Amino acid sequence: MSETVKYLLDESRLPRAWYNITADMPEPMAPVLHPVSREPVTADDLASLFPRGVIEQEVSSERYIDIPEPVRRVYRQWRPSPLYRARRLEQALSTPARIYYKYEGVSPAGSHKPNTAVPQAFYNAAEGIRRITTETGAGQWGSSLAMAGAMFGLEIVVYMVKVSFQQKPYRRAFMESFGARCIASPSDTTESGRKILAERPDSTGSLGVAISEAVELAVQREDTHYALGSVLNHVLLHQSVIGLEAMEQMAMADDYPDIVIGCTGGGSNFAGIAFPFMGEQFRGGRSLEVVAVEPAACPTLTRGRFAYDYGDTAHLTPLTKMHTLGSSFMPPGFHAGGLRYHGMAPQISHLAHLGHIKARAYNQLECFEAGLQFARAEGIIPAPEANHAVKATIDEAIRCREAGESRAILFNLCGHGNFDMQAYTDYLAGRLRDDEYDAAEGSMALAGLPSV
Ligand SMILES: *Cc1c(COP(=O)(O)O)cnc(C)c1O
Repeated sequence: MSETVKYLLDESRLPRAWYNITADMPEPMAPVLHPVSREPVTADDLASLFPRGVIEQEVSSERYIDIPEPVRRVYRQWRPSPLYRARRLEQALSTPARIYYKYEGVSPAGSHKPNTAVPQAFYNAAEGIRRITTETGAGQWGSSLAMAGAMFGLEIVVYMVKVSFQQKPYRRAFMESFGARCIASPSDTTESGRKILAERPDSTGSLGVAISEAVELAVQREDTHYALGSVLNHVLLHQSVIGLEAMEQMAMADDYPDIVIGCTGGGSNFAGIAFPFMGEQFRGGRSLEVVAVEPAACPTLTRGRFAYDYGDTAHLTPLTKMHTLGSSFMPPGFHAGGLRYHGMAPQISHLAHLGHIKARAYNQLECFEAGLQFARAEGIIPAPEANHAVKATIDEAIRCREAGESRAILFNLCGHGNFDMQAYTDYLAGRLRDDEYDAAEGSMALAGLPSV
């Protein structure tokens, strides 16, 4: 009874289409606005940054969008990913809850990010693009795009948030092994980077700054596009393979989740696991509780405002209505680098605003503690980001024990922590501390929101 159970799907069950939640949104979303004219953006506005195939997906309201065969061929290398029933963790917690986790750490880059890096590289290569610029926080997105770029013959330039660049030298080596160029951000290679360095020479960077640098480089050359690893509709669309597979695997387990949990940085892995289930609910299927978990030091959903804001610090990106801490907000240098973003995916923000998604925030120490408890029961060391989902799962399992409830909990184990040993070293040595959200800096950043 105490054995962890693995639910594997046959390769032939790899989804043929991605799921687009726009088709099932209970209410329409606010339009995306051009940063200068403040009018709704057009496909042409986005064409200097993204390939047509991706722009069509960004604005599509088709429920299912076919996955191109060359993308499915790459997906097949590690997909369908396994779903596990965490019986040993259940036993360790003496909980009557049934805990399931979908494991995205089986991808070559060790996280869910290749699910979108591969199609983005594919559409760019198919439209004749030679080079893609991007930003990376903890390094997982840069690693994934570097890998996908190598597969489709693209040159990749990655601006890596400086604090992570310093904390994670192996991530840089990983990207460079695939032939990508990795630059610490803020850098002196762009106008936006130089501006930040002039104001704060010791800046450890942020995703907002790194995005500005990558976008700036991309618009300078015809053969260069930009790619984003989270937040945007097309990224969330690509990640839906996670939830689509999980739905089939839960059926194999003869179960259905009462609660779905994921960690949220920009929101893509969370949307990936949750949206297919939420869509089913919006179409009249079973209802479920959906929980997004974020770091208390960068509390976008729990303490941010739902308002129009820029995606980057230099205000080069369109304005989207989302939960935001303000585009000038610089999160402290805590270890879950992938969760250090001032904004949240507009689709998630919209659904949270309508009350369909609950949000919780946790501090990093309690998350690492939960991550180690999970690792010791299940044998997988989670990425520091994923520890947030683990923590919420363990809390829910304990709540079930105390209430005598047997609920089915499904969470997304979005990546392994094998590249994050410095974080675990620091945690085990007692060197990590909890960074507080700086409410004063927070209100300053929010005061700078554009008036739309
Ligand atoms: C990038 C990343 C995140 C945060 O991004 P989302 O778009 O919110 O998923 C979380 N976990 C891991 C392992 C990541 O690589």
